[in-house]
Order: sequence, then C-alpha cells, then structure tokens
Amino acid sequence: MKILSVNAGSSSLKFQLYEMPEENALVSGVFERIGIDSSFYTIKFNGEKIKKEVDLPTHKDAFTILLKELMDLGIVKNLDEIKGVGHRIVQGGSYFDRTVVVDEDVIAKIDELSALAPLHNPAAIVGIRASQEVMPNAVQTVVFDTAFHQTMPEETYLYALPYEWASEYKIRRYGAHGTSHKYVSARMNEILGRNNTKLITCHIGNGASISAVKDGKCINTSMGLTPNAGLIMGSRCGDIDATIVPYMMDKLKVNSKEMDTILNKQSGLLGVSGISSDSRDIEEGISKGNHRCELAQKMYVRRIIDYIAKYYVELGGCDAIIFTAGVGENSISTRREVLDGLSVLGVKVDEERNNVRGKETLITSDDSSIPAYIVPTDEELMIARDTYNLCI
Ligand code: ADP
Repeated sequence: MKILSVNAGSSSLKFQLYEMPEENALVSGVFERIGIDSSFYTIKFNGEKIKKEVDLPTHKDAFTILLKELMDLGIVKNLDEIKGVGHRIVQGGSYFDRTVVVDEDVIAKIDELSALAPLHNPAAIVGIRASQEVMPNAVQTVVFDTAFHQTMPEETYLYALPYEWASEYKIRRYGAHGTSHKYVSARMNEILGRNNTKLITCHIGNGASISAVKDGKCINTSMGLTPNAGLIMGSRCGDIDATIVPYMMDKLKVNSKEMDTILNKQSGLLGVSGISSDSRDIEEGISKGNHRCELAQKMYVRRIIDYIAKYYVELGGCDAIIFTAGVGENSISTRREVLDGLSVLGVKVDEERNNVRGKETLITSDDSSIPAYIVPTDEELMIARDTYNLCI
C-alpha cells in the first residue's frame, strides 16, 4: 500500500512516498516558493535528483504536479494507488494525543490553535485542503508534533502562572518534535528488546529538545508553550528569566513582535557567538580560537547536560541516552562534551565508537553506567506508519 507523508509550510511542500508496511521509501522531494516567483521543485528518485522550474501559484498546483510526476516516473499507475496521506501538524494543543483521520471538526480545531503556531497551522490546513481536492479517495490523516507529549502530568505541563491562564488562554507546556522523540524512543526499545524502559531522547538540530520517556510514554520535555523554551538552539534562546523580556522591551523600545524575533532569530548560538546559528560554523570558530564561539558552545552543552541530569532524576535512572537530528547525529565534539559532562554519573564515552556521523550505533564504552546511542530520526516514516495504521 502506498502512503504519502506531507509537510506543508506557507510556501513549501515536502513529501515522501512509502510502500507500506515494508517501509520502503520510494521517492521524496520538495516544492519551494509556492505562491511567489521563481518557484521550483526537486524530486529524489533512484539515487537521482531532478530539479524543475515551474509556476506554483498554490499548494494544489504542487500536488497536481507531484501526482503527474509519480505517474510519469512509473511509480504509480493511477492516483487511487495512494491510499493514505499523512500531514505533519506543529500544534495540536490539548485536543490531540494521537494521529487522527481528518474531518471538518479536526480542521476547525487545528485552525483554532493557529494563534499558538501562526506560521505553521494555517499552512498545514492549506496543504490538507489541496490534498483532499487532488486525492479525494485517499484517507487524510494529521500527525501532531505535540501529540507524544500529551501524556505529561498536570504538574509538569502547567506553568506557575495565574491558574486560569491555562484554561482561558491555553498557556501550558505542549512540547514539540514529538514525532521524532516517539520514533527514536520506539527504535531504542527495539534495540534494548523491551518496552519498560527509562529513556532520555535528545533531538538536537537547529531547533532542539530533550524528552524523558518512561515505558514508551513522555513524562517531560524541554520545549514549552512554543519551541523557544528549554535548550539553547541555533538562534533561539531557550530558558531565560522571563522578566528580561519586559525589561529589555522598555530599554530597546521594541514591541512584542520585535522582541519575539530577537528571542527566536537573533539569540542562541548566533546571539552569543555573533557568527552563526550553525554548529559547524561554531566548531570552525573554536578551531580558530574564537572566544565567543567557545563560550556559545560551552553554554549550549551545559544546558543539554542540565536537562539530561534533571530527567535522570525525574525518571529515577536511565536505560539509554539517545542523540538524534542534525547536531545529535553529526557533531562528534558536542556528543563527547555532553557525555564527558555526565561522567559523575559513571557515563563513559568511547572515542572510537563516537567517531561517526548519521549512523545508528552505540557510542559509550562497555563499562559506561548508561549506554548512549545515535539513532537517526525519521519523522516522515513515523507519519507514514501512523497513517498506514489508520488505513488498514
Ligand atoms: P532542523 O531543526 O532545521 O530540522 P536539523 O535537524 O536538520 O535541523 O539540524 C540542522 C543543524 O545540524 C545545522 O544547523 C547544524 O548546526 C547541524 N549539523 C549538521 N551537520 C553537522 C556536522 N557535520 N557537524 C556539526 N553540526 C552539524
């Protein structure tokens, strides 16, 4: 059965087609600059990358071209072969704790939550509508970044703010990257051969979050109401003293929107180093002796260690630490520095095992008190799995 994973942004549409349940990725690609000029798409198929420039006024045009390409390439004979389409949704609020089949009530709720994800939820609805029009016979599902974190207890997801804010304004911790945390924790349980585990999953990419996962369920996660909270990220500040915000708004005479931009786009590794949000550039700066790059990296690593230590205590121990996403899978030095910072717990990195990028592997020594692994994430596959399960 063919299942399509879709991630629609306001001007982009990423896709990956799978043969399920075999989990074979058949083709993937991205449509870019939808609704603006110079639009184009790229498709990866059979080890080749095709790039074409076309007019893409709407997401519906992107889906129409995608389906024509799939037929021209001989990947599908007709559209009805695609039985399910899974759409990635950033914010599911308290409404959704799992993947669901789309209906009008589901769309209304995603729309209602747009205030919490103004860049993402409205774009996803456009993607769903376009997909429904072009593939009316396929089962459309929605897979939420927040769903995996809905198992957090009330004392964990509430903020110590006026109690009514949670019900009146939906102010609470929702977390993010849930599809990734779910995927890597499920994979880790497979590797360990059991489900009654205590795992700390570190999704460290440009955006970054850590989750505590007990017996396959999330009990805490570092992101909050928005993906700005928790770890220091490429250009997001992570946890700070909230009072800095009104204080600096007064000092700089900036409004809330401008302050939001500073906290999300001009802070983190970029803000401290003054050089880049990309950890490869920070590593290069460090190799040249740049003090602010060294400082940014120390702060970045310190925060990851803090969260792992906090969740170790909260879980009452830990069966495995998992690194995933861009930095987690590829930055040898960041992983080493984090694990060295946990040596007081008896964690021991194995330099040789850790000397890899993007490969599922154990990176600690055999006498480490807690094993640490790299588990490459695959959010698209997780979306396809959930969607397949709702199609059979
Ligand atoms: P996003 O949050 O945008 O999905 P990714 O998970 O793709 O991000 O991670 C992107 C980040 O991964 C880059 O900004 C970069 O900092 C980091 N990264 C990728 N490759 C390497 C590498 N070889 N060494 C260190 N960092 C890397």
